[in-house]
Amino acid sequence: MKYNYLIVGAGLFGSVFAYEAKKKGKTCLVIDKRDHIAGNIYCEEIEGINVHKYGAHIFHTSNKKVWDYINQFAEFNNYINSPVAVYKDELYNLPFNMNTFSKMWGIRTPQEAKEIIQKQIAELNITEPKNLEEQALSLAGTDVYEKLIKGYTEKQWGRPCTELPSFIIKRLPFRFIYDNNYFNDRYQGIPMGGYTKIVEKMLDGIDVKTNTDYFEFIKENPDIAEKTVFTGMIDEYFGYKLGALEYRSVRFETEVLDTDNYQGNAVVNYTDREVPYTRIIEHKHFEFGKQEKTVISREYSSEWHQGMEPYYPVNDDKNNTLFDEYRKLADQEKDVIFGGRLGNYKYYDMDKVIEAALEVCEKELV
Ligand SMILES: Cc1cc2nc3c(=O)[nH]c(=O)nc-3n(C[C@H](O)[C@H](O)[C@H](O)COP(=O)(O)OP(=O)(O)OC[C@H]3O[C@@H](n4cnc5c(N)ncnc54)[C@H](O)[C@@H]3O)c2cc1C
Repeated sequence: MKYNYLIVGAGLFGSVFAYEAKKKGKTCLVIDKRDHIAGNIYCEEIEGINVHKYGAHIFHTSNKKVWDYINQFAEFNNYINSPVAVYKDELYNLPFNMNTFSKMWGIRTPQEAKEIIQKQIAELNITEPKNLEEQALSLAGTDVYEKLIKGYTEKQWGRPCTELPSFIIKRLPFRFIYDNNYFNDRYQGIPMGGYTKIVEKMLDGIDVKTNTDYFEFIKENPDIAEKTVFTGMIDEYFGYKLGALEYRSVRFETEVLDTDNYQGNAVVNYTDREVPYTRIIEHKHFEFGKQEKTVISREYSSEWHQGMEPYYPVNDDKNNTLFDEYRKLADQEKDVIFGGRLGNYKYYDMDKVIEAALEVCEKELV
């Protein structure tokens, strides 16, 4: 059988493309090297709880078109992401807002908070920040930096803030109101029943093969489709011939606990350097779960080596330049469309992936 499209990757990008292509009467085969569909938004059910296997995923967008689009496939609950930060034995609300400042300095008004931050920034007298530490200090002042930024960032990047470039932090989301909603977006929520069901609906009636790696599969089936949509790693597609792009990875340690409520919140960040993990996610709170047990995941940020899950692209000059070279090669592959976070070597939130996939569909599926 020859398909119109071979879609490599059953993640959000590949699945949106497959759904739209089917609507236009095209035939698709979707393959994924993992043993399940849904890519990084996959939820695994443990003790009746939807566990976000590849990291906590909160859907948020200001794009009404994308919000309406995703709502075709699921009803979203009214979850609002309001993480908490633990620094030694102190506990603060995030993002940095009046609740955080009030707890930190025992103050009440925005004016008082602004004065403290400005005074700390002025005392540092940093005119041209040379690294991330100086940049963050010059934006946040000493207390917020030391307690809430320094240790967390060092764990995330595996390096001291003094050795990280300043561009990583361009601005800080300070809020001088009492508001713990992490996102500024108009729409936010978690799909009731988990994300995998969304992708199941998108791929309904479409041929799907899991446990199928493209590079093996295409050797045996070179004429399987007229065109390919490739959402795997762009450098791997080209056999790493220009060199390998770099990523940061995350290791998850997931545990079932015999209690119904471990930390009272879905997301708790650990901001001191001494605690080895960056966050603990308690999955049931995404869906207001009432189960008897609970499931938590500790997240450890780690170096990435080939063969590991590539989570976050390292978009510094060196890697962006290398990606541009791969992009030029990609432009010459007339029958291959590169998409998604790995095909574009870009950190995309889910709404941006949907936007990008719909844009490609509009051009491609006439
Ligand atoms: C830790 C973490 C937390 C996140 N949290 C949020 C959040 O809260 N909110 C939000 O909006 N976004 C979040 N995101 C981003 C979100 O995960 C992505 O936007 C989305 O999953 C990207 O979809 P995709 O289809 O591009 O990639 P993926 O989901 O990675 O899909 C690509 C698929 O291709 C498959 N594949 C790769 N190579 C091959 C091959 N050679 N052969 C066959 N199959 C292959 C992979 O197995 C994978 O299933 C988060 C990302 C991470 C890493």
